[in-house]
Amino acid sequence: MLSMLAMNLAAKLAKRQKVRSPNALNTKEPTLNVEYKMKIPIVELSDCIKCGVCVEICPEVFRLNGAGFIDVIELSSYPEIEVNEAIKYCPVDCIYWEE
Ligand code: SF4
Repeated sequence: MLSMLAMNLAAKLAKRQKVRSPNALNTKEPTLNVEYKMKIPIVELSDCIKCGVCVEICPEVFRLNGAGFIDVIELSSYPEIEVNEAIKYCPVDCIYWEE
């Protein structure tokens, strides 16, 4: 009889308040509120003198196309250090990052 009373009491208490197991507190996936913006190198073609320095420094990103202009190769991400080198050594400062 006592155990029946205890079970009824436990059922009533469970209805009144949400009981969480200690593990339930740790199972929630962490949410990231960080927004990632990919930076893309841009070549200002009207200023480019087609010296080829960027292609020499960073051929995985910059290439001379068939028309004689510099292309930025479409990649899922860009190597920041190498692109920064190309930006640094471009003689007319026509490479920049766009976010
Ligand atoms: S380094 Fe600058 S000027 Fe030279 S080809 Fe590349 S973008 Fe053009």
